[in-house]
Amino acid sequence: MNQSICVYPGSFDPVTLGHLDIIRRACRVFQTVRVAVLDNPEKTKTFSVSERIAMLEKVCASLPNVQIDSFSGLLVDYIRKTGAGIILRGLRSAGDFETEFQMAQMNSQLSDSVESLFMMTSPDHAYISSSIVKQIASFGGDISAFIPASILAEVNKRLDHK
Ligand code: ADP
Repeated sequence: MNQSICVYPGSFDPVTLGHLDIIRRACRVFQTVRVAVLDNPEKTKTFSVSERIAMLEKVCASLPNVQIDSFSGLLVDYIRKTGAGIILRGLRSAGDFETEFQMAQMNSQLSDSVESLFMMTSPDHAYISSSIVKQIASFGGDISAFIPASILAEVNKRLDHK
């Protein structure tokens, strides 16, 4: 288990400026930041796993210590395979805390060699979530303050006025 490698797992459907802020800050703390898109066939997503990976690769292109990947099944099994020592998650609210608390306890039961660490959202991004951004875009609202500029056209194209 390598404590200088963290895995940042999530849906990233699509990646937002909130996610990107966490990734950028994680790059200052960890040698390698492995962003892992959860491939969960039971949940229908707006963007396919390969589309979500492609968008993450685009927005992280200038960050040399970021790797983009996907995984299915148990996060702790994926972590074991990568050799990473840390699960990184972002926290926005007390609501996030409740679910993250439960997940971190469960993951530590499943694997005693992995540590969950949390990074607080920056105030500018506290209210951004992929789902609310998608809702706004589907009603024709401007999402340019929430989505990285390099993927904005692609996200708008998929969601505009649905
Ligand atoms: P999940 O479906 O696993 O919650 P998300 O893509 O929604 O996946 O989020 C991945 C991680 O990023 C989670 O830890 C979430 O709390 C965090 N996150 C999402 N949006 C923000 C934000 N605006 N600021 C900080 N962290 C965020």
